[in-house]
Amino acid sequence: MLSGLARDGGLYVPAEWPRLPDATLEALRGRPYAELAHAVMAPFLHGSVPAVELQRMIDEAYRGFDHAAVTPLVQVDSNQWLLELFHGPTLAFKDVAMQLLVRLIDWSLARRSSRATVICATSGDTGGAAVEAFKTSSRCTLFVLHPHKRVSEVQRRQMTTASAANIHNVAIEGNFDDCQAMVKALFNDAAFRDRVALSGVNSINWARVVAQVVYYVFAALSLGAPARGVSFTVPTGNFGNILAGYVARKMGIPIRRLVIATNSNDILDRALATGRYETSGVTSTISPSMDIEVSSNFERLLFDASGRDARLVFRLMRELKKSGSFQLPAKVRASVGRLFSSGRTDEQATLDTIRTTLAATGTLLDPHTAVAYAIARTHTDPTSPMITLATAHPAKFPDAVEKACGIRPGLPKKFADLLDRPETFEVLPKDLDVMRKFILSRI
Ligand SMILES: *Cc1c(COP(=O)(O)O)cnc(C)c1O
Repeated sequence: MLSGLARDGGLYVPAEWPRLPDATLEALRGRPYAELAHAVMAPFLHGSVPAVELQRMIDEAYRGFDHAAVTPLVQVDSNQWLLELFHGPTLAFKDVAMQLLVRLIDWSLARRSSRATVICATSGDTGGAAVEAFKTSSRCTLFVLHPHKRVSEVQRRQMTTASAANIHNVAIEGNFDDCQAMVKALFNDAAFRDRVALSGVNSINWARVVAQVVYYVFAALSLGAPARGVSFTVPTGNFGNILAGYVARKMGIPIRRLVIATNSNDILDRALATGRYETSGVTSTISPSMDIEVSSNFERLLFDASGRDARLVFRLMRELKKSGSFQLPAKVRASVGRLFSSGRTDEQATLDTIRTTLAATGTLLDPHTAVAYAIARTHTDPTSPMITLATAHPAKFPDAVEKACGIRPGLPKKFADLLDRPETFEVLPKDLDVMRKFILSRI
């Protein structure tokens, strides 16, 4: 958790998947979210955090959500459900993990009497969630890198108006993949990494994935698991959210299908269809948090789906870095295909889905959720519920929503003055040396 990326450039995964027996799951159905969260996460911690402390941090993390159920499940059609993950302080699903992660990190640093420099690349929502979570941290200095002019105004202001001394926002002249590559490069610079005690809170941080497993378990139990199987459709960018669904299944939740939903940045959809993972450039869409090419957490799936063949994954990742593509070995592709499906929604279909869903249900979808819901509707299975993860509140993307249906969703009251607050951020070129100097000057 504290080191983020492994020293050899790889990603951490648990040595084995803990399982939740059916009897345990049965007993958890209908219990409060915070209680379920403890039961799902504790097996990953092996007692490294005392149970009472863990429960206190979980309670604190989710107390600030504006819905008593934390992640309520809402029906939108006969067999279609939305899992609303946007009731946290910045209105996107990133809050679910980030609110807990900051508490776990501060707790661990306090025990070691140390501090950390936390770095984070964002396509829009991770940055806001991180700023909101870390602005009260007593042990971390946070640097957030977002792609200059490629995030929505609400997203940018949620990051740049915090006015806390330990928060530093940087707009990088490039796209999200450039930001992510810079973060990875800083981690791979061992001397710098040690000098500033570098830590990361992107979904390369395993603790974030673990915190996200909870709501898959919550939704599945609510709709009849473990006796009945359920499926999920997930608006996907960096593959962190849907990977948590994979982990839930490894823990014993009967998940039938995990459907990867992409916008026109469809590298994952093409990879599943053709067996070739091939970059082709990023285009800006109305669902910017999914405008990503290199899905970091796909690496974790490849590792597990290949029978934990680290050498193979190393080769594929090296190939990707060198040539911009790799071929999925047949065995790995078959294994992935047994659980995962995929689909792609273009801009017009996203707008249409927002409009028709509003007309049919009165529910306003944000563009990311709409991308996924359009695909969920084409992957129905009459014998088991389909749950679409609603990853953001529509008010975070008012321009796209208004364009789709003529209604401009208003921000909740707590953001009333967001558009008037003063902003602080630095615009920097995508130059590692400049970035290193900037970090050193600020800590
Ligand atoms: C981050 C984000 C996504 C993509 O999630 P990944 O874990 O990166 O796949 C989708 N929708 C919204 C609103 C997001 O903020």
